[in-house]
Amino acid sequence: MASMVHGTTSDDSTAYRALPSLDRLLTAAPGLVAAHGRTETTQALRDTLADARRRIGSGEAAPDSAGLLENASARLAARAGPRLKQVFNLTGTVLHTNLGRAVLPDEAIAAMVNAARSPSALEYDVDSGGRGDRDDVVNELLQELTGAEAATVVNNNAAAVFLLLNTLAQRKEVIVSRGELVEIGGAFRVPDIMKRAGARLVEVGCTNRTHPRDFEEAIGPRTGLLMKIHTSNYAIEGFTASVAQADMARIAHAHGLPFIEDLGSGTLTDLERWNLPHEPTPREAIANGADLVTFSGDKLLGGPQAGILVGRQDLIGKIKKNPLKRALRVGKITLAGLEAVLRLYRDPDTLAERLTTLRLLTRPRDAMLAQAERLKPTIAQALTGWPLTVSIEPMLSQIGSGSLPVDRLPSAGLVFRPQGRKSGVLNRLETALRGLPLPVIGRIADNALHLDLRCLPERDEAAFLAQFSLGLKPC
Ligand SMILES: *Cc1c(COP(=O)(O)O)cnc(C)c1O
Repeated sequence: MASMVHGTTSDDSTAYRALPSLDRLLTAAPGLVAAHGRTETTQALRDTLADARRRIGSGEAAPDSAGLLENASARLAARAGPRLKQVFNLTGTVLHTNLGRAVLPDEAIAAMVNAARSPSALEYDVDSGGRGDRDDVVNELLQELTGAEAATVVNNNAAAVFLLLNTLAQRKEVIVSRGELVEIGGAFRVPDIMKRAGARLVEVGCTNRTHPRDFEEAIGPRTGLLMKIHTSNYAIEGFTASVAQADMARIAHAHGLPFIEDLGSGTLTDLERWNLPHEPTPREAIANGADLVTFSGDKLLGGPQAGILVGRQDLIGKIKKNPLKRALRVGKITLAGLEAVLRLYRDPDTLAERLTTLRLLTRPRDAMLAQAERLKPTIAQALTGWPLTVSIEPMLSQIGSGSLPVDRLPSAGLVFRPQGRKSGVLNRLETALRGLPLPVIGRIADNALHLDLRCLPERDEAAFLAQFSLGLKPC
């Protein structure tokens, strides 16, 4: 108790002296040394002792050795875990940019592990023994799946758009409809990218309506190309008009200019086959006369982060000669994953089973309802004592990452509502869920916390539930 008396030096020094030495603690912690190594354990013990001294200085009692070792063990565990944590995405947004977008299919994961583990013929032609081109890993598949003459791959779609503009439109004008000057997630704005790429943006039409003659009238001696941008993350409704791909291609070609399109998401197949809303495909754009099309690898396509350019051989050739291509290229692990994902598209009949993104998007509401019934008892039990009600309710998921912004998918999940007027409890619940070893990320809306189960695969259900078996501590 003496150490609780604040500010009396003699009492404090007694408490300080009660602390064991670093050496003694280290000898008492062979388990920690075995698990984390001597260097890490020594540092953790040193930090723990420094912390204990600080606490004694502010009047707290000296912790005993067991308490110190426990504290050091918690520090070591926190440092040993990955910073890039696995989480459960129960936000209802399937392609959540902040949660890493597409979850990869097993085929891609296996290919990426192999590419990481062994040397591969990345830029080596095994048949001739000569030099190869890394784009050849996916070139043929992309030609097949899009109808384009050639393809190349870079770090992401923003890089693809940048590289394309820098190669084909530096010191030239690029004509774009005002209705398509999109901002993606704050950092990607078409006008900014254009400026950095050295191209001059020429806006035509109005926010809601652009006509073919707007493009025709804007073409001049400095025009480099005509560009269409998929308005991924918003929809303009009402009195609207945009210029169709085929019309833009016709106008561009009549003036000897390329017509290019940034498709954003770019699924490689017609989603209507699975009763999902139609999303424009690179194949359609190419068939309608686009000379180049760019799209992301990790949006609807369901692969690793990448930016894909497909189109005319001569234009792709120019892009590949731009020194910036070297700066923006992808690594072997990405290419291995992308190749495996593209291969799945060769068999549309099994695509919805094998491509994780499509499997999640096509999960029927009944599957989530049944899952909610399985989960609810354990979760309700874990929340004993919380002023909340738990119910199973229908809800609507969204695709995310700017795909089909207004379409919603019928889903279901668990909804937590505060009892009475204790609305602060929702934030406490949200914090507790985030604090689980595998954080659970939900969504608060309409004074309720929603856990949309669409993105909880059945094979992860046990790991999800195990976290609740000890109850959820109100925090
Ligand atoms: C998502 C998107 C981008 C950016 O793609 P990233 O792969 O995230 O770099 C560019 N343009 C459009 C239209 C998009 O939807």
